[in-house]
Amino acid sequence: MARSPQELMRAIPSVDRVLSDKAIARLRARYSEDLIKRMVRLGLEKLREELRNGAAGKADCAMKAVAERVARLLEERVGPRLRTVINATGVIVHTNLGRSPLSKRVADRIAEIACSYSNLEYNLEEGRRGERNAHLRKLMQELTGSEDAIAVNNNAAAVLLALSSLAQAREVVVSRGELIEIGGSFRIPDVMARSGAILREVGTTNRTHPRDYINAINENTALILKVHPSNYRIEGFTREVELEELVAIGRDRGVPTMMDLGSGCLVDLSPFGLERETTVQRVIAADVDVVSFSGDKLLGGPQAGILAGRAELIEKMRANPLARALRMDKLTLAALEATLLEYTSPKGPVDGVPTLAMIMKPREELEAIAETIAAELESALKKRADISIVVGVGRVGGGALPLEDLPGPRVSVQPRNVSAGRLEQALRAGDPPMIVLVKDDAILIDPRTLLPGQPDAVPALVNAAVDRAETI
Ligand SMILES: *Cc1c(COP(=O)(O)O)cnc(C)c1O
Repeated sequence: MARSPQELMRAIPSVDRVLSDKAIARLRARYSEDLIKRMVRLGLEKLREELRNGAAGKADCAMKAVAERVARLLEERVGPRLRTVINATGVIVHTNLGRSPLSKRVADRIAEIACSYSNLEYNLEEGRRGERNAHLRKLMQELTGSEDAIAVNNNAAAVLLALSSLAQAREVVVSRGELIEIGGSFRIPDVMARSGAILREVGTTNRTHPRDYINAINENTALILKVHPSNYRIEGFTREVELEELVAIGRDRGVPTMMDLGSGCLVDLSPFGLERETTVQRVIAADVDVVSFSGDKLLGGPQAGILAGRAELIEKMRANPLARALRMDKLTLAALEATLLEYTSPKGPVDGVPTLAMIMKPREELEAIAETIAAELESALKKRADISIVVGVGRVGGGALPLEDLPGPRVSVQPRNVSAGRLEQALRAGDPPMIVLVKDDAILIDPRTLLPGQPDAVPALVNAAVDRAETI
């Protein structure tokens, strides 16, 4: 017989009874007494409400159910939210998934510096205050040929700092074809406005000529800026002024040139199909005065923005009060230094820079992984999904540099009893969550962005997700 809400209310244990029950005891290992008390009260309040509107019944009033409710609330309210996920999208520098994963070696350096005092801003030879960017200067000199360098929070901050330091209330000449927006609302004109510099647009969207720059330069011109159009391409009837030409125009007129390079690659990736990416070294060798780039794109390090170039200009940036506001913290500095050091190792940066390892992963290796995953899924899922290997086009980046194609094999899983969308959702709800692309009626698993050890876990995760998707 159904009971009335009033009767059920009486079945609810009191706060004190819940707190003294052993079902709650294990939570005390993880959470403070205060927090547990608060969640018990909140849990019981919610239970009463659910009883009133019929969403809960007698079973929910049992001590075990109440304890579970409290544990769930604690997890929801104060459990860790940031989780590791498996990136099976094939998008290597995936901004939403944290861009570049770091190697264990680099992560160990972060831990080492994090748990100790360090010479972050202390000159050990002279026993007095030092400069945090001094750690990068020599390394960047050797790796890129730059005179000096400064690192800040990210490349957006680097561009802001450079413009604010070099072009306050003065004009910066930029081609209309390079007034870009990078995913996540970084817009060159907006950053320019915030920096206090005055944008001087030249040329047209598809064509900018040397004379456009020359005609725009006047006594109030502080800088010529060239921007890597990371995420779009102008095709057809186009003309851009090459970097060398631009540098010459600036030099003749006493105006420095800056290049916002975006990715900041230190190795030539054209043998791996990435034709559009120049290297920082090449830009410095072209005599550009300042180059800016991200730490966590093709460099494969932590989130950072690096400015490298002529010592006198970098010094102006260092002296800008904004440099303090945008400065990089010691953990990032440890990771950035460790990442750059990987580029000096005899085997090159591949071992210690996962982003580059993914770009350079040989086709045969990708095929072998795809085949193993496909075979295991085939036997695990039997008649519940159609498994095949398709050739897909991976991407280096999502919002930031989506144009570079990296073709390779992908495992296609087409579930028979549920939609691919539902399977994708179930994979996201897995532990760990797995992020995949959906195409037509299948989900695609790209082996390129699976980190070492992850391919072994994939079949079981997909299997469990198909189970869940079919029972929702
Ligand atoms: C990615 C990018 C930026 C922004 O860099 P963040 O490190 O994400 O701040 C700026 N300019 C270009 C050309 C880029 O590609």
